[in-house]
Amino acid sequence: MTADRQAAQRQDETDLLRHMRDEFLLPDGVIYLDGNSLGPLPRRARERVARAGAHEWGNDLIRSWNTAGWFDLHSTVGAKIARLIGAEADEVVAADSTSINLFKLSVAAARLRPGRRVILSDSGNFPTDLYIGQGIADLLGQGLEMRIVDRDQVLSAIDETVALVMLTEVDFRDGRRHDVAAVTAAAHKAGALMLWDLCHSAGALPVDLNGVGADLAVGCSYKYLNGGPGAPAFLFVARRLQADIRPPLSGWWGHDRPFDFVTGYRAAEGIRRNLCGTQPILSFSALDAALDLWDGVDMAALRAKSVALCESFIALVERDCGQYGLTLASPREAERRGSQVSFRHPEGYAIMQALIARGVIGDFRAPDVLRFGFAPLYIRHVDVVDAVAILHNILATGSWDTPEFRARSAVT
Ligand SMILES: *Cc1c(COP(=O)(O)O)cnc(C)c1O
Repeated sequence: MTADRQAAQRQDETDLLRHMRDEFLLPDGVIYLDGNSLGPLPRRARERVARAGAHEWGNDLIRSWNTAGWFDLHSTVGAKIARLIGAEADEVVAADSTSINLFKLSVAAARLRPGRRVILSDSGNFPTDLYIGQGIADLLGQGLEMRIVDRDQVLSAIDETVALVMLTEVDFRDGRRHDVAAVTAAAHKAGALMLWDLCHSAGALPVDLNGVGADLAVGCSYKYLNGGPGAPAFLFVARRLQADIRPPLSGWWGHDRPFDFVTGYRAAEGIRRNLCGTQPILSFSALDAALDLWDGVDMAALRAKSVALCESFIALVERDCGQYGLTLASPREAERRGSQVSFRHPEGYAIMQALIARGVIGDFRAPDVLRFGFAPLYIRHVDVVDAVAILHNILATGSWDTPEFRARSAVT
């Protein structure tokens, strides 16, 4: 065994989170560095979905809306997420997708700042965030504009024409972080509202929405929260704004009394008005169980492990693979990074396919980014060492350079 691997083993032995890995069903022979895209299956989620299917749906049928807590799952789950993002239980619900929640909250925000005509974002934001903003400008008209500036220009672009600053804390391509406190303060100073997309933050690092005075937030639960493919997303509205929100998707689940079946819409009090319609309960069940994994997880310890994993990965890749043309795309300084590391390589797609064929699962983002996610609940230090050894072997032998590995699939 190499000295690197021995040192990694020693780190794993003293890891405060080492018992968490057993909570997941990870296939043999796989080093899973893509939990930033789709978290793996928690054992308890599998059990819960089996029960929800066989017992709650299969046996109890429609009674389960009342007897199995289906009716309130949006808030039960929301409260569990709230603890991870520095929010109060009644400030978060789970519902719909991130894209839809972006739509709901951004329209509501634009209506809260009539007369202001700019939704501001940056070009590093995830495309759906930008597309939804463009769609809203098109829908609302009245000169509303989706303004997209360079990441470094965000602070200077915030002025009194801006209704909403809409940003993702951690950039999906290179893992770079915005300064959440500084940007939120600048938005408020200019009288704008602030919406944070936490897709790559929730479950990846400590988040303190109320600590920074954030107004609105959204995020998904199938990445670091391990809720399963297409799991429900969440949304946050600070308590002080909840009564002023006018939901653009005024469905019956956001009504004050949905089971009165009256003809007139009247928004529910509080966070619940941001719901729209009936939700996928089996997905909610998986997520609800997956979130229980976080009971007792110390977010500072989580972050410390995440930083340690990312630091060793960067050091080993640069030492062993640097001569093959890989360059670091993520910030070198840990404080400015999320829980992923990205490298650029002109042949990144084929190299990633070769890695996946050898059991090291990361992903590729056009045009040339290899992404590696380090989810501290189940990634070990030995995984980092083993992944880099396989990457080195692929690069040194050129085994990535085949037509098979160059052939692109629909999902990269
Ligand atoms: C993953 C991700 C999304 C995904 O949105 P969906 O509606 O779930 O498809 C949105 N925004 C960001 C920043 C993401 O990373």
